[in-house]
Amino acid sequence: MKILAVNAGSSSLKFQLFEMPSEEVVTSGIVERIGYDNAIITFKVNGEKIKEDKQILNHKTAVELVIHGLISNKIIESLDEIKGVGHRVVQGGEYFKNSAVIDEDVIAHIRGLIDLAPLHNPANITGIEAFRNALPNVPQIAVFDTTFHQTMTEDAYLYAVPYEWYEKYGVRKYGFHGTSHQYVSERAAEILGNKKAKVIVCHLGNGASICAVDGGKSVDTSMGLTPLEGIPMGTRSGNVDPAVLMLVSSKEDKTYGEVLDELNKKSGYLGLSGFSNDSRDIIDGMNEGNHRAYLAHQVQVKRIADYIGSYYVYMGGLDAICFTAGIGENAPEVRRDVIKAVKVLGIELDAAENQKRGERMISTKDSKVKAYIIPTNEEVMIAREVIRLESK
Ligand code: AMP
Repeated sequence: MKILAVNAGSSSLKFQLFEMPSEEVVTSGIVERIGYDNAIITFKVNGEKIKEDKQILNHKTAVELVIHGLISNKIIESLDEIKGVGHRVVQGGEYFKNSAVIDEDVIAHIRGLIDLAPLHNPANITGIEAFRNALPNVPQIAVFDTTFHQTMTEDAYLYAVPYEWYEKYGVRKYGFHGTSHQYVSERAAEILGNKKAKVIVCHLGNGASICAVDGGKSVDTSMGLTPLEGIPMGTRSGNVDPAVLMLVSSKEDKTYGEVLDELNKKSGYLGLSGFSNDSRDIIDGMNEGNHRAYLAHQVQVKRIADYIGSYYVYMGGLDAICFTAGIGENAPEVRRDVIKAVKVLGIELDAAENQKRGERMISTKDSKVKAYIIPTNEEVMIAREVIRLESK
């Protein structure tokens, strides 16, 4: 049976069609620049990319083109072959402790969480509504970035702010990248042959977060109320003293919103280096002796190590550290320096293995704590959730 996994952003729509339960990817693709005259729709079939430039003014048209493309590119013969659609939804709040079969009530609750994810949830709803419209008889499932972290206890998710803020406005840590942290930690437990394993997942992409997983449950994670909290990222600052907002807004005559935007879009690698949000440029710059590139790298490494140390203590031990996502899977320099920074925990890098790609152990055989590269696969997690909920 074929299941479609969908990730709708404000101007893009990514999709992957799976044959289940074999988890074979039948096709994948992306619609970019939705809302513009020169949108691009790309299908990947049998390793070949089929690309088309088109005017795609809204998600409804984008979804219709995706569905039409599945037939015209002979990926499927009939829409009846699609037995379920899984949607990534960024913020599920405290309400969604599990993935959900989408109906009017579920959409209303996702809408009710827009205050907590003003950039993401509206785009996710647009994607859901477009697919419900195009495939009215196919079950649609919402899979939330936050659900996996709903197992955190109060000591981990509460901020030490007036408690009424939590009660009235939901001010607390939610955490994100949940499907990725779950996929990678489950795979690590499988490799270790230990369902009770204590694992730290470093999801290092343009957005980045760290998660402590104890016996398959998220017990703490670095992102917070929004994805801004935690370690420095491509363009996000990660943790700063909130007083920065007041100082910079008064010095530069900007609103808090404008300064917050700079913490989200002009900080992290980009802010410190002054030239790029991409780890490839940062590493090249560092190797060429650019001090600001070195700082961007080193500040991130230190903050990652801070979280690993703290989670080691919180879990009372550690079996493995896993690296995943764009940087975690592809940047040996970042893995090397993080592992060096937490060597005291009893972790020994295998320098040769660390230079390679794909799933592998990158610590030595004798290393007390193991380290792995485990490529993430959020889409397959979404497809698995669709099958799990449909068979209930
Ligand atoms: P993601 O958000 O998981 O797609 O990760 C995107 C980021 O991964 C990019 O911004 C790059 O910084 C990083 N990345 C991708 N490929 C490489 C590579 N070959 N070497 C180093 N970093 C990479």
